[in-house]
Amino acid sequence: MNTSPLPPLPVRNPATRPALTDALRAATAEKATAARDFLTEAVAEFGGALTFANSLGAEDVVLTDIIFAARLPIDIFLLDTGRLPAETYVLLAELEARYRTRLQLFFPDAGAVENYVRAHGINAFYDSVALRRACCRVRKLDPLQRALAGRKAWITGLRAAQSPTRDGLARRETDAGSGLVKLNPLADWSEAEIWAHIRLRDVPFNALHERFYPSIGCAPCTRAISLGEDLRAGRWWWEAPENKECGLHAKRTPAMTAALKHDDDHLAT
Ligand code: SF4
Repeated sequence: MNTSPLPPLPVRNPATRPALTDALRAATAEKATAARDFLTEAVAEFGGALTFANSLGAEDVVLTDIIFAARLPIDIFLLDTGRLPAETYVLLAELEARYRTRLQLFFPDAGAVENYVRAHGINAFYDSVALRRACCRVRKLDPLQRALAGRKAWITGLRAAQSPTRDGLARRETDAGSGLVKLNPLADWSEAEIWAHIRLRDVPFNALHERFYPSIGCAPCTRAISLGEDLRAGRWWWEAPENKECGLHAKRTPAMTAALKHDDDHLAT
């Protein structure tokens, strides 16, 4: 039974339906096996100190499927910023039904959100990079700190090909923000391999992907992209490409660290 309250899709993004050639099927199966083995080794190394930060993007539903298919004992959490699109909540319910599980949701601190909105307005993130980062800090980074408390390693669905800010991404790295080991099992996957896995395994996915939203975050900070645009061009589209990270996955250069500190100092005054 289709329980989605959303209307039928008016468009179909062809990138979500790659031609399932023998070569693509073989490459996807090989990478899924490699990702499963990589995660199995991570469980052996980190045990209960390992967690998966699931943002419900196309890559994250692939990882979810690999984890449940292999019955890997990995905790999975989601940051619910309070500004997610309706389609994301529909997907959350579909995934929980498909895998008979509950993802662990982390919410922002209510008082911190109230203070931000009273001081700056409900959509203040459009006004400056500093206010956008401050919103991401309250709604994402602070809850992430709680989600990662006591952990030694976290898994993400990042891919190197997603944007210039993720170029050269390794499968294993030390996260500059949290100091934890960050594991990116899909670092070398192509977009076609992601969608081949989803289609071949009939994995639930966010309906917005069909509407040309390859990367989905909060509703007011995500738009559809045009053909040929960078896959993350729809995130914080009003900002320069080098600013397009919320801090969850930013490569913290000294300049960026200084900029974040400057933003904090400015907002504190
Ligand atoms: S993506 Fe937008 S709405 Fe979501 S936390 Fe960041 S600035 Fe706020």
